[in-house]
Amino acid sequence: MTSVYEAWAAILGDDPDKQVEPTPIVHTSECDDRFAAWKVEHAAYLERWPNVCQECGGQGGFEYQDDPGDRDCSLSGGTTTFSEPCSECLENGTCPRCGKEAWPDSEMFDADELTCSYCGWADSAPDGLPEVPECLCWEEQLP
Ligand SMILES: [Zn+2]
Ligand SMILES: [Zn+2]
Ligand SMILES: [Zn+2]
Repeated sequence: MTSVYEAWAAILGDDPDKQVEPTPIVHTSECDDRFAAWKVEHAAYLERWPNVCQECGGQGGFEYQDDPGDRDCSLSGGTTTFSEPCSECLENGTCPRCGKEAWPDSEMFDADELTCSYCGWADSAPDGLPEVPECLCWEEQLP
């Protein structure tokens, strides 16, 4: 499986200083449709929740995947998912979605589930901004 970077490197060459305009991607109509639907959802969400956290988009945190075995061979391989609370909202006790101070008391973070008493946002099923649809149109256009 070729990564995006490798694919573009094959086209542009390995010299990062070489300024070559990448070929503009022509999206399939399916991709265009998904993007148009996302735009509508995105606008509707922002209209309903204008104070959504700019940093995490209402998710309340970030998930990232890491494979500790990559660096330390004594650890067994496998990717682990970590999550971090967003430093702009959840960490300050602010609701990621409505922006109100929903958890002024840090002890409340010991609760199994965080639920915003103002808007009902819950960390078990965070309702954030809709995710940008995945676009794989570039794949079709590789030489
Ligand atoms: Zn596309
Ligand atoms: Zn946030
Ligand atoms: Zn809220």
